[in-house]
Amino acid sequence: MHELSLVESLLRMIEEYAAREKFRRVLRIRLSTGKFSGVVPTALRFAFDLQSQGTVAEGAQIQMEILPAALYCFGCGKEIEVEYFDAICPQCEGSMVILVRGTEELKLMELEVE
Ligand SMILES: [Zn+2]
Repeated sequence: MHELSLVESLLRMIEEYAAREKFRRVLRIRLSTGKFSGVVPTALRFAFDLQSQGTVAEGAQIQMEILPAALYCFGCGKEIEVEYFDAICPQCEGSMVILVRGTEELKLMELEVE
């Protein structure tokens, strides 16, 4: 499960913050992931509950935000948000497209601590 290693690096980052900022407990964590990242929110929560035990983040509430995906079309010369990526521009139906957003794996947006 890919989520395990994502959560592992997230927890390492939080522990570093905790040491530097001197907080004892994390109440809420706001995360974001790209629509096409392949990260499964339920799997991520499961991994988090398991791996956060005994850390400052144990029992923290997780909020997941899904970031929209977009492709860049060379034909249209602009970014276009897409629901599905089938390598074709939904506006001009050209195939000169690249995925520019939506593959970000896991980003820490906000931490609520005490
Ligand atoms: Zn286009």
